[in-house]
Amino acid sequence: MTVIGESAPSKPTGSGRHTTDHQAPQPYAYRRRELVEPDWRRLPGWRDVTEAQWRDAQWQRAHCVKNAGQLRAVLGDLLTDRFYADLNADQQHLATMSMLVTPQMLNTMAAEDSVPPAAFTDAFYANPVRRYMIPVRSDRDPEWPSHPHATRDSLHEAEMWVVEGLTHRYPTKVLAELLSTCPQYCGHCTRMDLVGNSTPQVDKLRLGLKPVDRQDRMIDYLRRTPTVRDVVVSGGDVANVPWHQLESFLMRLLDIDTVRDVRLATKALAGLPQHWLQPRVVEGLERVARTAARRGVNLAIHTHINHARSVTPLVAEAARTALEVGVRDVRNQGVLLRGVNATPTDLLDLCFALQGEANILPYYFYLCDMIPNAEHWRVAVWEAQDLQHAIMGYLPGYATPRIVCDVPYVGKRWVHQVAEYDQERGISYWTKNYRTGIELDDPDALTRRYPYYDPIATLPASGQRWWAERRG
Ligand code: SF4
Repeated sequence: MTVIGESAPSKPTGSGRHTTDHQAPQPYAYRRRELVEPDWRRLPGWRDVTEAQWRDAQWQRAHCVKNAGQLRAVLGDLLTDRFYADLNADQQHLATMSMLVTPQMLNTMAAEDSVPPAAFTDAFYANPVRRYMIPVRSDRDPEWPSHPHATRDSLHEAEMWVVEGLTHRYPTKVLAELLSTCPQYCGHCTRMDLVGNSTPQVDKLRLGLKPVDRQDRMIDYLRRTPTVRDVVVSGGDVANVPWHQLESFLMRLLDIDTVRDVRLATKALAGLPQHWLQPRVVEGLERVARTAARRGVNLAIHTHINHARSVTPLVAEAARTALEVGVRDVRNQGVLLRGVNATPTDLLDLCFALQGEANILPYYFYLCDMIPNAEHWRVAVWEAQDLQHAIMGYLPGYATPRIVCDVPYVGKRWVHQVAEYDQERGISYWTKNYRTGIELDDPDALTRRYPYYDPIATLPASGQRWWAERRG
């Protein structure tokens, strides 16, 4: 190991500066890259789709792909039967989310149509956006598809509901789930218990109250609870809340003078940017942003983008439009997923596309939560720590994302905050400095250590054996 200050001196130059004969390359080589929107007309099912149709949110919604048959209608024989069979098998036996992919997203997954079907299929299999939006059976971990401690509502959000859909986990913040649908469904969705249609594997929890009653109760709770200053308005995806309803809810929130931060959660900014570019939505957002600014409230949009390929010119246009009409910030909360973005290069490429080309702040990357059938996506805590180290120093400090582990019953912790870590068995222990809403009477809440588990496939042989011996 070389200790700084002990390395061999480099040669002095005439100017007094030091240089070496052979400069070692940087681990990551930055260069500016233009955003691209692949031409959708290369794909058989969209040969005649016009620019106006592509930019139309209703056209995008009406042409979402929901099953293998609809995927075939777009990609035709470019994909071989092997892929469609693999997809059907996954939907029948493993998928925790039903399939719903916007044309906007599918367009970023498919290769050029000029390659032969076998090569097109291989490229589609390998595509990072496909790997989390259209999972197939062969993607999953054959030995341990689920961790033994995986659970449906792995963050226990419903347990912490103070009224239906309103999770009060942190002392000053709440999560308001206004609805349980999105314009697109991600295979790794942490709210798989609630969000989307039921699948053969998962009968989803249903919200019981009418949306308007749920919203009334949320507003009532927030009026009665002045210690809450920060409201994440989510779902699902707020892009699926009829605009007049969302605007009315936001205006009522802004009327509560103890609410100081409002964050709108919408993956649709990337999955369906057309939604956020519709004139009635932009005008409505401007009214809300003006009101927030007048009252000194920080209104932000939080989106969820996992790979640089998803940052297209239309996504940048949607983000800039939101900023232009007065939203204070647009931030990204990605999910760290093996095979999608869990390398320093993929993370930095994405962050530079967000920060440099789309004015979206790279804010967080979450470890994929411990939901069923997600082991092939998850990374170990030590891998996440290595990735955090690898991405330091390239981006502006304020735009360097934190990689966080959302520890059950704890909340987000930076991956280096682990209190104790048994790497052989892949069990990390975490502590916290506040009580969640269900622990107000628990004397041990602040001294307890809360476990989190690495994927078993990442453990040494002895650790994998330990888990295998305990398998039921
Ligand atoms: S957009 Fe968010 S809530 Fe909707 S499926 Fe994806 S991860 Fe889940």
